[in-house]
Amino acid sequence: FTTEYKGPALEKPIKVTVNTGLFIDGKFVDPIEKGTIDVIDPTNGKKIVDVAAGTAKDIDVAVEAAQRAFKTVWGTKTPGVERGRLMNKLADLMEQNIHEISAIEAVDGGKLFIHALTVDVQQAISNMRYFAGWADKLQGKTIETDDSKFAYTRHEPIGVCGCIVPWNFPIMITSWKLGPALATGNTIILKPSELTPLSALKFAELASQAGFPPGVINVVPGYGSTAGQAISEHPLIRKVSFTGSTLTGRKIMEAAAKTNMKRVTLELGGKNPNIVFDDADLAQAVKWSTLGIFHHNGQMCAAGSRIFVQEGIYDKFMHAFTEASRTLQPGSTFDASPTVQGPIISQTQFDRVMNYIASGKSDGAKVHTGGDRIGKQGFFVQPTIFTEAKPDMKIVREEIFGPVAVVVKFKTEEDVIAMANDTSYGLASNVFTTNLARATRISNALEAGSVYVNMASVPDFRVPFGGYKQSGQGKEMGEYALEAYTQQVQRKQLP
Ligand code: NAD
Repeated sequence: FTTEYKGPALEKPIKVTVNTGLFIDGKFVDPIEKGTIDVIDPTNGKKIVDVAAGTAKDIDVAVEAAQRAFKTVWGTKTPGVERGRLMNKLADLMEQNIHEISAIEAVDGGKLFIHALTVDVQQAISNMRYFAGWADKLQGKTIETDDSKFAYTRHEPIGVCGCIVPWNFPIMITSWKLGPALATGNTIILKPSELTPLSALKFAELASQAGFPPGVINVVPGYGSTAGQAISEHPLIRKVSFTGSTLTGRKIMEAAAKTNMKRVTLELGGKNPNIVFDDADLAQAVKWSTLGIFHHNGQMCAAGSRIFVQEGIYDKFMHAFTEASRTLQPGSTFDASPTVQGPIISQTQFDRVMNYIASGKSDGAKVHTGGDRIGKQGFFVQPTIFTEAKPDMKIVREEIFGPVAVVVKFKTEEDVIAMANDTSYGLASNVFTTNLARATRISNALEAGSVYVNMASVPDFRVPFGGYKQSGQGKEMGEYALEAYTQQVQRKQLP
């Protein structure tokens, strides 16, 4: 598939080429059973292209290739220095093709090209380089156990890993998984979301160019209920790393438990508190709270969707936050202004978001601003702010994954900590205050994998990311992610 994109954000037209087959054992192939995925541009609902849809049979073939590669050319057979070199080469190729990858990611995912370029793809490249640096630094420890005995530990790769990725940040989340998995010597079956498979296919092409041996990286686009399920049930896959909804995470854990007890890392949903204290810098709080819920239309696991504002600053905050939300206007992928807001990813997600808005209205919450679709066609939704919501309403309790904030006024620190933690999730929180002692106190009281003070979630490849409670288990990024892809074994010897 080849096409060209033009627009105000581009100095010159970008040519895009994507191979639409399955990438297995170092080559692009057709699926065993005929089947395709229609890839839709969410800005206009039109088909961009169709790509091959893998099924359980293709997963079997990919696992065989990955298993062979693990035993013969990767795993402990390739020194860490060489693994790191290949990963850096791949990162270089991604950088050389950054405009093309960003265009693919933006068109496929309904996000602004300039956001894909400066955030998503840039982060993916940095992540790959960061983990390339770890590939030759996986050292165990020597432990003296007694007078004349000692043990040593080794960090061994796990084997074939299934990596299942969602549609909201496809290339970035791919790098969160493949970075540590490859650095530590595992081989991969990557399944992108059926809604956004294109950047993973470009990634496969570049990995092949970088010189990764066949079978080390396999990319099998497919539907969750077929290819995804086949990965979680496969007896020879030793680990699944999944990012997506809590519902699917539960199915993956069940499948793993029922089959070979494969290890599972889960990065799931969130209903994240964003807390603004009276002493906050108002401009900072408004800027980051706006980004925190409306960036990429709130289709972010770390979206600050429950906004708690202390009573002294409430009116000023609401005025400025409302104004900021109104500056976000619909536009197209290659517009140059960063305040252009894209569409919701699909009809299904659009309906889901609109149903949540309807439920907020019918449950008696007040629409402060927004609350409607934009235009009669397409998947555009107004940035929406609810007030006067009760703690048991669906819009307060459930992840909407859309541009919908619920604002709640609070009085004291104790009150807001109790409300913030009153959720089955625990992914991320944002806290706005100029009082350092308070920032530390609140950060430590929040049941959240990440707390951001005077900012909102911006992923950093050096810093671990993961959730409390039903937001998941295990960590991605940073040194901690290496643990998710290694067996820490001990070997004890008598001298
Ligand atoms: P989803 O669970 O519908 O799909 C995610 C992936 O799982 C897709 O590749 C899909 O094909 C696959 N899948 C679906 N059913 C499956 C099954 N039975 N077995 C195996 N795989 C299956 O999620 P989504 O709608 O793509 O993404 C949105 C969700 O992802 C939100 O809940 C969001 O919070 C979460 N998310 C979490 C993080 C994080 O780091 N915690 C990051 C981004 C998104």
